[in-house]
Amino acid sequence: GVVLNGAGGKDRILVSVRLRPLNEREIAANDPGVWECINDTTIIFRNSLAERSTIPTAYTFDRVFRGECNTKQVYEDAAKEVALSVVSGINSTIFAYGQTSSGKTFTMTGITEYTVADIFDYIRRHEERAFVLKLSAIEIYNEAVRDLLSTDSTPLRLLDDPERGTIVEKLTEATLRNWNHFKELVSLCEAQRKIGETLLNEASSRSHQIIKLTIESSAREFLGMDNSSTLVASVNFVDLAGSERASQALSAGARLKEGCHINRSLLTLGTVIRKLSNGKYGHIPYRDSKLTRILQPALGGNARTAIICTMCPARSHLEQSRNTLLFASCAK
Ligand code: ADP
Ligand code: MG
Repeated sequence: GVVLNGAGGKDRILVSVRLRPLNEREIAANDPGVWECINDTTIIFRNSLAERSTIPTAYTFDRVFRGECNTKQVYEDAAKEVALSVVSGINSTIFAYGQTSSGKTFTMTGITEYTVADIFDYIRRHEERAFVLKLSAIEIYNEAVRDLLSTDSTPLRLLDDPERGTIVEKLTEATLRNWNHFKELVSLCEAQRKIGETLLNEASSRSHQIIKLTIESSAREFLGMDNSSTLVASVNFVDLAGSERASQALSAGARLKEGCHINRSLLTLGTVIRKLSNGKYGHIPYRDSKLTRILQPALGGNARTAIICTMCPARSHLEQSRNTLLFASCAK
């Protein structure tokens, strides 16, 4: 269940599941949809009795979205409140989790755009405060961090700053001027990600992308006096590597080591999220991967988190879909 308490509360993680529509290839191959959202919170497996005996039939989350739902609806119900907490000085992270081709990039691109549009709108309606918006973007591939706003693809180092925590050294931070500038930066990221993809086979299914938007604001009447009224917070939009990589990493055999290395961030994220959602804090292994080190200030504590698990509806993806639902169940 979701609980978005007031600031300072031990918030649970908001967990949603989004089915994408069957695509043309699946329809042409007579690969039927085997999942159905029977209401706003429950998704069921519907199939022959034989299969039913081995697969739990119903799963409940904070929100489920059928294939016909558009991204605006997903944003409104599964991400907006978490993402916009950034204007009140609260850090947050929105994740897209799921197998390759399930709709992670499709979903996260739309959610990022709706959030930025809402933030620009908020700024226009709050003339009493002065705002500065900053955007940075990274890709994590094989535990190497690359700056997606720079044409230099040299891996960046992580540094531990006594005041700011883990920071990515030499990372480009663009000051956002307006909507068009945002669109330009996003295109630049996409282009940089594509270059990586041709250098490294299928990089987009193996790498994580994080777009980070930071908002600083201060009351105009205090401008230049002191910084006691300045609020600073970030929202992170995380398009994760394909979740099939996590299950492959756990499978035995010669490729185990490579798989583990590629997926250290995804596996550690799973552990961190499970521990946070259990509410028994104790030791949380943020430092075991680059992804969780970078996201630590926006994951747990007072930060807000939403996870959107994307799923392929077709029967041929049954096994991966079940893995995705298991991950989602552990996170809620
Ligand atoms: P992933 O990032 O998980 O690999 P993508 O976001 O690239 O998957 O989606 C795979 C394909 O399916 C893309 O062509 C995308 O446009 C399409 N798609 C994904 N989700 C939806 C959706 N909800 N509605 C329509 N098309 C979708
Ligand atoms: Mg993608």
